[in-house]
Amino acid sequence: MTPIKIHNSLSGEVEEFKPIDKPYLIGMYTCGPTVYNYTHIGHLRTYIFEDIFKRVLSKNGYLIEHVMNVTDIGHLSSDSDTGEDKIERQAKKENKTVYQIANFYTKDFLWNLKQLNIDRPNILAPASHYIKDQIKMIKKLEAKGYTYKISDGIYFDTSKIDCYKTLFNQNKDDLKSDDRIENASEKKNPTDFALWKFSPKDEKRQMEWKSPWGIGFPGWHTECVSIATKHLGKYFEVHCGGWDHIPVHHPNEIAQAIGVTGKKLSKYWIHFGFLLQNSEKMSKSTGNFYRIKDVIDQNINPLAYRLFVLNTYYRKTADFSMEAINASNNALNNLYQFAEKIQALKRIKIFKRKLFKNTKQNFIILKNFETDFINAFNDDLNSPKALETLWNMISTVNKDIYSFDPNEVISVLKNFDDILGLKILNHKKPRIPIKIRFLAWKRYILKNQKKFKESDKIRDNILDLGYQINDYQTFYTISKKQ
Ligand SMILES: [Zn+2]
Repeated sequence: MTPIKIHNSLSGEVEEFKPIDKPYLIGMYTCGPTVYNYTHIGHLRTYIFEDIFKRVLSKNGYLIEHVMNVTDIGHLSSDSDTGEDKIERQAKKENKTVYQIANFYTKDFLWNLKQLNIDRPNILAPASHYIKDQIKMIKKLEAKGYTYKISDGIYFDTSKIDCYKTLFNQNKDDLKSDDRIENASEKKNPTDFALWKFSPKDEKRQMEWKSPWGIGFPGWHTECVSIATKHLGKYFEVHCGGWDHIPVHHPNEIAQAIGVTGKKLSKYWIHFGFLLQNSEKMSKSTGNFYRIKDVIDQNINPLAYRLFVLNTYYRKTADFSMEAINASNNALNNLYQFAEKIQALKRIKIFKRKLFKNTKQNFIILKNFETDFINAFNDDLNSPKALETLWNMISTVNKDIYSFDPNEVISVLKNFDDILGLKILNHKKPRIPIKIRFLAWKRYILKNQKKFKESDKIRDNILDLGYQINDYQTFYTISKKQ
């Protein structure tokens, strides 16, 4: 097994992964959802890859403490702290309280994670539960001279952080077209951001708190640093998020962390690419987005989306379409069929041992596939290469299936699925009606008696009823017609 290498957006390079001090314990923080609308599949691409990275780390022997925030407060319609509060706006639209909105869409988010077999974080932290921590942090920044006050709130002076302009290898000198130029008349620098926003004088917000600076609410960029440092300490190993966080949100997190602790919050900053929908940008605010529910409504296994995501390298932009997800669904069914076949062979082997002629050489072949697979993931999460190894393994085994020990193939599939999370060996099998099972058995007997005409007739009859028989040398499996 080669050591893990991962692209660190801080250096812009692929680096060898090494924990900070404790050899096997990894602190991981991932920016969570803003719960004002349904989770779309574009966001889920990021959450799937975060889950994959966690599984790769744990396959390499690490223990992970994973913290994720849930933004239920303070995320304005522009990432640069202008416009309406997204959740307050949605509450007005749906005629509900902000708490009802946040609860409803948090539940939707968690439902999505479950559909995609994404492990939940150890700590899921709603920002509104951490107001005291955020106020404490802003006070610290104030005491160190990083803040100033303007008419609508307390702001962070980004010019006080030397490296701010070049974080993630960006150049923030030419920001003329950036929307952060708003409030320029009062802001000292276009990149400065709100730590605490005052409630509008003419409006009573549903979520607002008292603070040393006046009634209001924390800025969106503040919650992550407060929550992360509270649970993971001043400096931890991994911070993840979507590519859209590179220009604003993550530099702002780092600026505050440097202000408070002198450190850049996390050693590795990992970002995941965008998802297009039929070659166009997917976005919650424009309503142009698919949900996992839409995929399920098309009779597609939600895990086909997980497989679809893994087909594209995480730093590349992926393009979603119904054709592409259908192709992934077929591939997933093929994978399940292979797993069912191997599981059937395992049962058969108990009483037909002589059929099998597994060799030591094939054991080594399987072990090599296993090594190639984990090495692909360890090499900057190269999931397309790992999937190629999976398909190669399947076609190699299929070529001479009785020369492999089914137990060994199952063990390899299990190891692969520990990372892939596709439920290869424990997927929900479609319930085959008793009538179909009976017909299949009758056909099997007739076929063995070489009554092919009759047996073929039953096979066609089964097909008409929506099922297919998959014949193997000494047995068969039944699956839904593809
Ligand atoms: Zn964040």
